[in-house]
Amino acid sequence: MEGYGAVCVLGLGRAGRAATRYLAGLLGSGRVSVLDAYAGLDAAPDDETRALEALGARVIFGTEDIAGCYDLAVASPGIPPHASFFRSALSCCTEVIGEPELAWRESPERWIAVTGTNGKTTTTALVGHLLRTGGRAVRLVGNIGDSVSAEIAARPAGSWFAAELSSFQLAETRLLHPRAACLLNITPDHIDWHGSLEAYAAAKERIFANMGAGDLAVVSREDRWCRAIIGRLGARGVRTCALDVHAEPDGPCAAFARDGRLVVRLDGVEHALLATGELPLQGEHNIQNALAASALALEAGVADEDIRTGLAAFTALEHRIEPCGERSGVRFINDSKATNTDSVEKALTAFPAGRILILLGGHDKGTGLGSMAAAVARACKLAACFGEAGPRIASALHAAVAAGEGALEIVEVPHMGEALLAAAGRAEAGDVVLLSPACSSFDEFDDYVQRGRAFKRLVAELIGKDGV
Ligand code: ADP
Repeated sequence: MEGYGAVCVLGLGRAGRAATRYLAGLLGSGRVSVLDAYAGLDAAPDDETRALEALGARVIFGTEDIAGCYDLAVASPGIPPHASFFRSALSCCTEVIGEPELAWRESPERWIAVTGTNGKTTTTALVGHLLRTGGRAVRLVGNIGDSVSAEIAARPAGSWFAAELSSFQLAETRLLHPRAACLLNITPDHIDWHGSLEAYAAAKERIFANMGAGDLAVVSREDRWCRAIIGRLGARGVRTCALDVHAEPDGPCAAFARDGRLVVRLDGVEHALLATGELPLQGEHNIQNALAASALALEAGVADEDIRTGLAAFTALEHRIEPCGERSGVRFINDSKATNTDSVEKALTAFPAGRILILLGGHDKGTGLGSMAAAVARACKLAACFGEAGPRIASALHAAVAAGEGALEIVEVPHMGEALLAAAGRAEAGDVVLLSPACSSFDEFDDYVQRGRAFKRLVAELIGKDGV
């Protein structure tokens, strides 16, 4: 941060507070302002804002106008580039960056970065687990764990950062240059923030913007957006590892499944890892996550044997295909984190076709439902549709059944609790009752965590009530 006079931070959320604390500690009194446009002008200070002021930061509430000039603005990920708050920063600050970019500039060594529409948290957590199994010091940062700037000051020498980075954070990077990074997939999401699917994909691609022949870019080749990115990375000479669960890619670096075993090839050297059947994580998508995390950990120097041990011991994270109870041979699964249609399609691959009773619904994001409805009709015996999006999902499912995709019972109920009762009431031994809702939760719950916990509580009551 040498050479910076005054800096400002946009947003007083988790990232904004961490960036302010870091910058105020670094630059001293009177040089850092933090603005929260969305709190009212008369918003009251709390313990945290008082602590920031005690560090010498100026806390300004309730204005989108950034009065004055700053050398640098650090924007929180919740503020879209089309917001007038952001545009005001662009007009009066020399540079506007995101919080991970700030952290990278301050502490650029040994970053492993993970992005993608789905699978970021699982893959980042698995990278951390594999590095620890291999005896490396690692901190999980970004969307997972703490904001990166909260971790810089106390970072032990030689340790790794495994950073989960969202498209919002990547959109505001310039110099960020991880040592190894991965892009798992690009499917439609967050179009309202970015303005278009093209802009969303371009933000994801920024993770590789400064990488070169001495780094490792791990990229899926299973969707067209990612395939196009592989082509561009190749043209730039970036060392690229193509990731494919279904077929073996050519080239010196690749990650794939061969004869039921995970294999990572780096610079022509093959590392045969675990058999897919030995992975505690379920579903095809988790084979992809395991391959990506293994390639990144190998690149960080973790031995094959430690990767095998680590993969065999890593179980599902909360709210991601998380087993949460069993009654009379019926398994209950919490996949509340499935907030878009692609993650639901992937969740269906984790269970035997025809044995799934799925709970779908929540806040309607308005995305297309055709592909998911066809997959649900093929894989499920019942769909219980609830919440604001329930009727639209139910009609997409009726259309899929009418088109001959499968014979599926479809029920519509107001809330998630009733959907659970409807599914549990019809489930038989060997079936799976799966909450994988395809929607965000804001119509009934604060977030996916609250929804998932509510589901688990209801499942526990159901199981307990019947004394099993
Ligand atoms: P993110 O952090 O990107 O939201 P998570 O690991 O939290 O990803 O998983 C979110 C949801 O996406 C879960 O419901 C999970 O089942 C599904 N999922 C996980 N990995 C993948 C993947 N590689 N491709 C598609 N869906 C995935």
